[in-house]
Amino acid sequence: MKDRMYINGEWVPAQGNKTYELRNPGTGEIICHVADGGTPEVKKAIAAARDAFPGWAKTPAKERGAILKRAEANMLAKADEIARLVTEENGKPFHEAKQEVLFSSGYLGWFAEEARRAYGETIPSPFAHKRLSTILQPVGVIGAITPWNFPANMITRKIAPALAAGCTVVLKPADTTPLTAFAIAQALHDAGVPKGVFNIVTAKDPRPISAEFLSDPVVRMIGFTGSVAVGKMLMEQSAKQMKKLSLELGGNAPAIVFEDADLEKAVERVAAIKFLRVGGESCICANRIYIHEKIYKSFVPKFIEKVKSFKVGPGFKPGVQIGPLITQIARERVDKLVQETKAQGGKILLGGHSLTEGDCAKGYFYAPTVIEGSKDDWPICQNEIFGPVANLLPFSTEEEVISRANHSVYGLAAYIFSRDLARTIRVSEALEYGFIGINDGDGYTHEIPIGGLKDSGIGREGGQEGLREYMEVKSVLVNIS
Ligand code: NAD
Repeated sequence: MKDRMYINGEWVPAQGNKTYELRNPGTGEIICHVADGGTPEVKKAIAAARDAFPGWAKTPAKERGAILKRAEANMLAKADEIARLVTEENGKPFHEAKQEVLFSSGYLGWFAEEARRAYGETIPSPFAHKRLSTILQPVGVIGAITPWNFPANMITRKIAPALAAGCTVVLKPADTTPLTAFAIAQALHDAGVPKGVFNIVTAKDPRPISAEFLSDPVVRMIGFTGSVAVGKMLMEQSAKQMKKLSLELGGNAPAIVFEDADLEKAVERVAAIKFLRVGGESCICANRIYIHEKIYKSFVPKFIEKVKSFKVGPGFKPGVQIGPLITQIARERVDKLVQETKAQGGKILLGGHSLTEGDCAKGYFYAPTVIEGSKDDWPICQNEIFGPVANLLPFSTEEEVISRANHSVYGLAAYIFSRDLARTIRVSEALEYGFIGINDGDGYTHEIPIGGLKDSGIGREGGQEGLREYMEVKSVLVNIS
């Protein structure tokens, strides 16, 4: 089944049984061969989604929700099995993969419930003879594209609201993590999702797939999570058919530790949000850690001690907290950034090199790295790091740190550590980021929307807003004279 795609309710091979190799980033070994689709396959999938749309859109939200709820239960029942796939293809530690699978299935449940509350409005009319109201309707066929860093969560956070809203979906998962996507398709299939409502096209080269999403007028919206460069290309190209867009793009989160913070908790939580979410390959992980100068000297050794305690290795090894990077190219990119920082005068306090021995000999491992002395304009502070590398940066005033934290093209997540309530409110309002964690390093929940400002994207996933992304507001005006 791994060499098949899910189109129109069936598992089908690519034309000519074309496949590509899928490798385990923790061991370098081939896991399997995956169907390598292209234009003909995505055309079939779009046609299936088009044909399925009218029926699915008319299905009462309660019934659509019941199917999604069953899919959630199916994912939960197979959580260990799916988590093993996540670890195999993504590399993250098994316990983290399991957490992801449990959390990601929750989006199916959350949006199953939210779909029943997709209320329109009755609007007070300025005329005695007219009645005004709005209804919410599904957008139509969605072309969804997802990344590899959260192979389960990035899919359900997107397709659960789309399906709950009454849209039909063609998903292209990341080429490096298709197996988790297949498991989600199976959970939906077993739950009774009608044929054509959800489809998966896998491909080594994503471009023919997105080209079809962009050029076929049947696809009314593109839901994309991934890099800024690809997001901008999709936005530009979507203009030709005025497609709706949801873009969840990169981030470069600041974490600000004020002098009145609970130091132990700040160390613990900043280290976790930096290193323990896919080993730093996360869009919301804290890359720039601003520490007030009064506590800088006590923060640094505690932070290094904490980071030193993290165990790196293959995801199935008990006790491992940080897995490999996704590919050799990703590891080389992170190392280049670190070596450039060193050459510019940054001081490597910990790590700063690949790990190539023992358990780490075969995969794409990188030592957890802590750097100080970087300047705000250096690439290490301006680029998305996407690896286990933290920058420690002292600051002296609130005003200064707000300005430095906002000095970024990104605007996804930011973190504040302080015991001063008024300050946390002031700073959270001043930071140009779509998601702010105050004294928290755990990320988000289903109930709260997440999304970015500036280059980090447009639109929101999760929460009530997540459903609205996949619905159009229609205004209905009745003349009763
Ligand atoms: P990427 O943009 O290279 O790939 C993401 C997806 O887009 C993959 O499915 C890939 O195959 C596809 N893709 C790549 N090039 C394409 C093209 N030319 N046309 C169409 N599709 C294309 O990003 P990545 O490296 O896989 O993922 C990491 C990025 O995703 C980071 O920038 C990260 O911050 C971002 N991300 C954002 C969020 C969020 O919630 N905002 C969440 C996770 C990841």
